[in-house]
Amino acid sequence: MIRKPCPICGKQIVGRSDKKFCSTSCKNKFHHPAKHRKGDTIKTINRFLFQNFKIMEAVFKGEKKNKMTVPRILLDKMDFHFNYCTGCYINNQGKLYRYIYDYAWMEFSNQEVLLVRKKEE
Ligand SMILES: [Zn+2]
Repeated sequence: MIRKPCPICGKQIVGRSDKKFCSTSCKNKFHHPAKHRKGDTIKTINRFLFQNFKIMEAVFKGEKKNKMTVPRILLDKMDFHFNYCTGCYINNQGKLYRYIYDYAWMEFSNQEVLLVRKKEE
């Protein structure tokens, strides 16, 4: 069954099938939009970017490979924000890569994500 993504942040919702939001914070944003609008600031965005970076770092920790495919649900569980990146690139096969500083990811499908680490020179 394909579940609708969270209407606030676009993340895949995990857990109970009647859940409408990915988290309590998104639920609150939906019910009190004005109160939370101020939260969408540079600070918040930077926090999401840094969080994505830390997740990438954690996934690659101890790995020799610079490329790997992981289940999307794993990144969702780690609270990865797929809508936040530091840049993007479309390769010659039309695949969209999103950068997060020294890392990049590409969404293969709803289930799989390819992660890339820039080689240390
Ligand atoms: Zn959400």
